[in-house]
Amino acid sequence: MAAPEPGPVYVVGHKRPDTDSICSAIGYASLRQALGDGHVLPARAGALNPESRWVLERFGLTEPELLARATGLRLILVDHNEVAQALDDIEHAEILEVWEHHRIGDLHTARPILFHCEPVGATATLIAEQYLLHEIPIPASIAGGLLSAILSDTLLLASPTTCDKDRRMATRLAALAGVGIDELGAGLMAARGCVASLPTAELFESDCKHFDFAGKQVGIAQVEVPDASALLERREALVAELEAQCQAAGLDLMVLMVTDIGRRGSHFWAAGPVREQLARVLGSAVDPVQGLWAEGWMSRKKQLVPALEAAISGDG
Ligand code: MN
Ligand code: MN
Repeated sequence: MAAPEPGPVYVVGHKRPDTDSICSAIGYASLRQALGDGHVLPARAGALNPESRWVLERFGLTEPELLARATGLRLILVDHNEVAQALDDIEHAEILEVWEHHRIGDLHTARPILFHCEPVGATATLIAEQYLLHEIPIPASIAGGLLSAILSDTLLLASPTTCDKDRRMATRLAALAGVGIDELGAGLMAARGCVASLPTAELFESDCKHFDFAGKQVGIAQVEVPDASALLERREALVAELEAQCQAAGLDLMVLMVTDIGRRGSHFWAAGPVREQLARVLGSAVDPVQGLWAEGWMSRKKQLVPALEAAISGDG
């Protein structure tokens, strides 16, 4: 009697997916399929943002299947490894692999697994590298998606998270996709600029991550735009939404980080009982309405998260 066919294995990124979560899932599932694992399928843990939608259309890639929750599923995680950012009920999924470039989080597995975490600018850089290591040709559409993810996560290779491997992979992927890095970057930024015109609540939803820092519940919403001036005109509405979301979610701290890619820095606002920790980290008072402009602060994962966690844990 033949063994039963194994069910699908889904490759999935974090909630409120960004282009790295979407395109790394598509890219890694496609690699595994090319290696003979036809049951490995790309998935997503939330709605596509305007930038990711633009990327899928630009390169003719299919929108990954939406998963509502993780219960009973077999999963390969890309671009996250924290319970608060994963599909609901992740504790009741079987996690088979993790491909990551963030801090090590709080996910546990029953068995030993492949866990690849490397401090590069995008998970997509690691996925592209796997194609090269397995000597599998990267289709032009996948190359375009992976390149978009690298440019998106590294803010066009300008973020302090960018490393040599990201730049090398970006150059190779651009050739394979038949696109110029600058031209693609301009398209990505234009698509991302549309975020600024979203209603305020959706703007927060577009990229908000939750963390547990020494028992304190912290939310950090980041909006990265080519030019922040239009958003600054809406600062009163942004601050009101920040306060409302912080209260509704019962957070100890909620931070809004509006990154101005052109000016290479971010505007910050904070809400919640331990809001003064943000001022401590940034070294200056954060005005409740005007916020605080901080030159050089561009990365949530590499700059803000470690500094805030240290401050809140009391060893910062
Ligand atoms: Mn991501
Ligand atoms: Mn990423």
